[in-house]
Amino acid sequence: MDVFSARKVIKEALLHTYGTVYEYDVCFVLKYCFGLSSCWAASTDIGDIWVQKVARDIRQGIPIQYICGIEEFKGKPFLVFPGVFIPREETEDLVDIAIDAVPRGSRILEIGVGTGVISISLLMSRRDIMAMGVDINPLAVINTFTNARRFEVDSRLQLYHADVFSLIEMPMSFDFVLSNPPYLPDSDRLTIDELVSKEPESALYGGFTGVEFIHKVIDILIKTGFHGGLLFEFDDTTQHYLRSHEKMSVSRVKYYKDRFGKERFALVWL
Ligand code: GLN
Repeated sequence: MDVFSARKVIKEALLHTYGTVYEYDVCFVLKYCFGLSSCWAASTDIGDIWVQKVARDIRQGIPIQYICGIEEFKGKPFLVFPGVFIPREETEDLVDIAIDAVPRGSRILEIGVGTGVISISLLMSRRDIMAMGVDINPLAVINTFTNARRFEVDSRLQLYHADVFSLIEMPMSFDFVLSNPPYLPDSDRLTIDELVSKEPESALYGGFTGVEFIHKVIDILIKTGFHGGLLFEFDDTTQHYLRSHEKMSVSRVKYYKDRFGKERFALVWL
């Protein structure tokens, strides 16, 4: 099948599932599912069976990042394994804040690494830091490890497959904590977008109001005598719950907006 016919098939499939088609998504599929260097590589021939398979997966509501196995983050193609949380573009802003906020020579801990985009991007920009990453999802640990190798930062990233609440209690040293934690309220399970429902629940739901997970992280960090910064992502609709924790109501907390103008990140010094 030539590229023009493949474009048409993919466009129709995207339209069927999403109701609208973005040129970016069509190009994304052509580039990452079919390996085209350009979106208009007219002379390339793509196998019919392969195009039909991708179109069928799109029609079944499988996110294109799972179908192609890639998501771009800060302009770099990260591998995304099915069953691992797909990075969102606003999280790039969290990395930018971290690049400025993490003190020189720090050893950071990232809670819930997913595909590894946060730690790996930070390690690529900041050669002076080391990182430890933990995820309860074994697939996420393997996914992050693979990306760390891909971007050649694996020698500065130590990974653990563990429940962070048991891990933090172990004697280990870190002086800055980063996380895009699960932060959606449990009740969102009932109304969640079909596409998002394909992603692991452990990366999405943070408890009854959504903030319980991060409150628990703060409690356990304090209990273990941690002193340092904690930078994390949250949902602005749950901000009043977030502030109900004594450490979050103090003047040391700095809130940041994301690129869409929503309060999305908090930096607190514990
Ligand atoms: N931002 C994600 C979403 O909208 C939620 C991610 C999370 O809980 N960390 O689906």
